[in-house]
Amino acid sequence: SRAHGRFFIGGNWKCNGTVESVQSLIKELNDGSVPDAVDIVVAPTFVHLDMVKRELKGPFQLGAQDCWVGKGGAFTGEVSAEMLHDFGIPWVILGHSERRSLCREDDELVGQKCEYALSQGLKVIGCIGETLEQRESGKMFDVLDSQLRAIVNHTSLSNWDNMVVAYEPVWAIGTGVVASPEQAQEAHAYVRKWIADNVSPEVAASLRLLYGGSVNESNCGTLANLEDVDGFLVGGASLKGSSFINICNAE
Ligand code: PGA
Repeated sequence: SRAHGRFFIGGNWKCNGTVESVQSLIKELNDGSVPDAVDIVVAPTFVHLDMVKRELKGPFQLGAQDCWVGKGGAFTGEVSAEMLHDFGIPWVILGHSERRSLCREDDELVGQKCEYALSQGLKVIGCIGETLEQRESGKMFDVLDSQLRAIVNHTSLSNWDNMVVAYEPVWAIGTGVVASPEQAQEAHAYVRKWIADNVSPEVAASLRLLYGGSVNESNCGTLANLEDVDGFLVGGASLKGSSFINICNAE
């Protein structure tokens, strides 16, 4: 739905790509046609960011898939928010479920990362979502509450213009099991109401809420029409240029 601002598509390339495959993906994207009224952000690996920045044209903006929680320094293996900003990367994905589970990032750390990245001038795609076990044991709303609470506690009112929130149920990520339209709308409406109650009605009304988890070119049209779905965060299907271009044309 376009009621909450420009439609937004994120492509999360995760830990994928060779020089050759990234170059052909760049070419497919550069050759594709996407609507003017959509914000599109692709997030390659840190290794590929420079190449993609030099070669990807037009409407595509760039994002990183994570960054360090504070100022750079003696943190072997990390990349800081100020480096990304200095290098001209406007966006960063934070709190992705793979980082929460595989790298043990907890709600508080994700909140701190959001705060620091925003303070350095980055825009943030903040990710939340429950596991299947949490959903089936009736804890879904509690999980969303505490993930949102940590982000809200670290985000000042004026920074909400630089945030989008991605609802990505863990059971839908990379599984081919996309949320039903009813499940997606229920969660998105819940998040928007929670933001209205805990941040402000104005922020809730303008916040873009992305759905992520097994989005593809066949299911994106139905989901894009839902009242509280304002875009997508796409993993697997973002690695195929033609699919990603079709998803960018979902609305
Ligand atoms: P998927 O990943 O589209 O491959 O399910 C989505 C994501 O993790 O952002």
